[in-house]
Amino acid sequence: MSIGQIVFVVLLAGAGAWFGRQVMRIRRNILLGRDEDRTDRPAERWAVMARVALGQSKMVVRPVAGLLHILIYAGFVIINIEVLEIVIDGVFGTHRVFAFLGGLYDVLIGAFEVLALGVLVACVAFIARRAVLRLPRFHKPEMKGWPSKDAMIILVTEILLMSAFLTMNAADLTLQRLGAEHYVQAGAFPVSSALAQLANLSTWQPANLELVERFCWWFHIIGILAFLNYLVVSKHLHILLAFPNTWYSKLAPRTEIANMPRITGEVRSMLDPAVAPPAPAAPRTVAGVEMPERFGAKDVFDLSWKNLLDAYTCTECGRCTSECPANLTGKLLSPRKIMMDTRDRVEEVGRAIDAKGTWEDDGRSLHSRISDEELWACTTCNACTEACPVNIDPVDIIMQMRRYKVMEESSTRAALTGMFNNVENNGAPWAFGPDKRMDWTRS
Ligand code: SF4
Ligand code: SF4
Repeated sequence: MSIGQIVFVVLLAGAGAWFGRQVMRIRRNILLGRDEDRTDRPAERWAVMARVALGQSKMVVRPVAGLLHILIYAGFVIINIEVLEIVIDGVFGTHRVFAFLGGLYDVLIGAFEVLALGVLVACVAFIARRAVLRLPRFHKPEMKGWPSKDAMIILVTEILLMSAFLTMNAADLTLQRLGAEHYVQAGAFPVSSALAQLANLSTWQPANLELVERFCWWFHIIGILAFLNYLVVSKHLHILLAFPNTWYSKLAPRTEIANMPRITGEVRSMLDPAVAPPAPAAPRTVAGVEMPERFGAKDVFDLSWKNLLDAYTCTECGRCTSECPANLTGKLLSPRKIMMDTRDRVEEVGRAIDAKGTWEDDGRSLHSRISDEELWACTTCNACTEACPVNIDPVDIIMQMRRYKVMEESSTRAALTGMFNNVENNGAPWAFGPDKRMDWTRS
């Protein structure tokens, strides 16, 4: 085994192990949430996933951005088939091991090159939208700092990876034409052949060409392994999580707000003495701590695992915020920020658990990041859930946090206090007792 092969295997194993570790950390964090059954109607779920995640159906509502995104997505998925060849070549010291596919190999390499060029163009267009056109949704307050940098890092990395791929092919093609040893005659190169001509590579020394080809090969694969591990700390994680997240989508009508079974049971038993009051919820231990039963959500432990999966899946695209009537009319609420804050909080909790081996209350909660003003600005119109390209539901988090404010802290908006008092005293939101309900029929 050559030194190159040994280095390659070590890098591959190290990157794979680190990625696996990070995936398990994220899984643990998601499972800090409450249990929730989202496995009913599986056929419908597969159809939603195929339509929304695989088919990108909600992306193309905005056609230009949608089509550019599909280009990047297809490029990312399909060009990674080529990574398989690189991995086999790296481990076994071969070169273009799939060359035996003949005509099919030519078609594949040709298609990868066209897609790589498409990805390059799309990434440049996306950078221009952010940095030159400065679309407002990319410059909202929650996008300051790391989120903006993260988006740029992803786009620049993809440009570098695709450039390395095309440059590698241009050098490889020239070496093939020169009949260099080890460079098998295989592949079709519609893009890199133009690149080779442009750079006049045929006049280069074979040794220099080989240097360029090897450098780009290593740069490409090390870049991919590094990018794989960058995914897990980046909004780019959506490329993996969009699939499970859409499979576990809410299938009920968007505007349906789930009742709290415990409260429903309490009300039923109050209205009908024959109905027994509901039993308290079974105790739940999370990260070594028994969690109290809560009405609504104070912290990430009170949200469901699906809420937390939503948070990790958010692409920070801002389509939700750009459709939110509260945000559009100058309110503080941004559904994208709700998702980013939820993810940041669950990450914070996860880090604390990693450091201490168990959870110790840090005196903070989701409410430390999301203000009452944001929560009460929501009209529950669901424009955000309709717009989200990966079926994320910020409204559910907002409603659970509001429930906590009302039911556990008796904190609400002044405009709602009268309505709550009326419900408590009169069994209806109006300021009339039940005995007055039929008065209107007599007037
Ligand atoms: S449901 Fe709330 S957060 Fe979503 S768009 Fe409507 S007002 Fe905005
Ligand atoms: S919740 Fe959906 S629409 Fe909103 S920023 Fe995240 S991915 Fe985009």
